[in-house]
Amino acid sequence: KVSSLEPREDHRICVCVRKRPLNQRETTMKDLDIITIPSDNVVMVHESKQKVDLTRYLENQTFCFDHAFDDTASNELVYQFTAQPLVESIFHKGMATCFAYGQTGSGKTHTMGGAFSGRDQDCSKGIYALVAQDVFLLLKTTAYEKLDLKVYGTFFEIYGGKVYDLLNWKKKLQVLEDGNQQIQVVGLQEQEVCSMEDVLNLVELGNSCRTSGQTSVNAHSSRSHAVFQIILKSGGKLHGKFSLVDLAGNERGADTAKANRKRQLEGAEINKSLLALKECIRALGQNKSHTPFRASKLTQVLRDSFIGQNSSTCMIATISPGMASCENTLNTLRYANRVK
Ligand code: ADP
Ligand code: MG
Repeated sequence: KVSSLEPREDHRICVCVRKRPLNQRETTMKDLDIITIPSDNVVMVHESKQKVDLTRYLENQTFCFDHAFDDTASNELVYQFTAQPLVESIFHKGMATCFAYGQTGSGKTHTMGGAFSGRDQDCSKGIYALVAQDVFLLLKTTAYEKLDLKVYGTFFEIYGGKVYDLLNWKKKLQVLEDGNQQIQVVGLQEQEVCSMEDVLNLVELGNSCRTSGQTSVNAHSSRSHAVFQIILKSGGKLHGKFSLVDLAGNERGADTAKANRKRQLEGAEINKSLLALKECIRALGQNKSHTPFRASKLTQVLRDSFIGQNSSTCMIATISPGMASCENTLNTLRYANRVK
């Protein structure tokens, strides 16, 4: 079942938080789970400066969001409260965007991409696949059949302020702005897709391209933003677009001091783009006349998805449960709190 979306007047963004379970490594290290989700929109961080007595927390911090998901939530459930309500808007010439924001290892790719092997298992579907599934369902309904829409996928990466096409051997692409302030990623591959299976194949292709030549999957993906788009076209013209963004890891700062120069530059670029994203979302929310899209490649490329008449955005902030990640978790929650 696909829920429908009323065209929205405001630009208020839906902001949700998702906690992942403690992993093997954390359990082995005897890391403590310091996050509780006491109700479906509250996140509590139990910060303790001393040896923890789990019944007696020394410091608590409470945050409220549109939804908070604990470590038992499935991708499907997270999807129902975040991206799914926006899907139908793209059939009404809307632009939708869903961001996954958080520390490396907190579950962004798990949420967006799901598992890329074992594609037959429904439980492995991430938001890319779930959006595609609903798009193909809606496409066949009587209301939208007559629009004669075609569906395309694009998949690209933004790294160090440059755009690389993940469906075309990481070809470096130029971003141009025309006289009407329309942004164009020149030469970006748009692959026609006819089923969810086609979409999963694109995701798989893009991911293999993303990581090729890299020593570790996570080492690279944590420093770039990945954008997967599902585009509807009618008569060759853009009809609607859903952008799904797996953001670069937000952990920077303390560890960059001792990192090498390359890492420092990467960190600075990521900070800049995540800050620009926050500023743009806030400016839109406050209906400010100036939105600083040009401050980063990420916001520049997503510009048309933000400012359209019928545009809507959601953010999934993913957090690690462990005490060892406390600082990063608090940073994520503060950021998410600022954009809501
Ligand atoms: P990120 O993309 O934010 O760096 P990942 O999505 O790669 O993080 O997640 C890191 C690890 O944690 C992966 O092995 C992933 O399968 C696992 N993981 C993340 N979120 C969940 C979750 N909600 N439930 C179970 N495992 C998860
Ligand atoms: Mg990732």
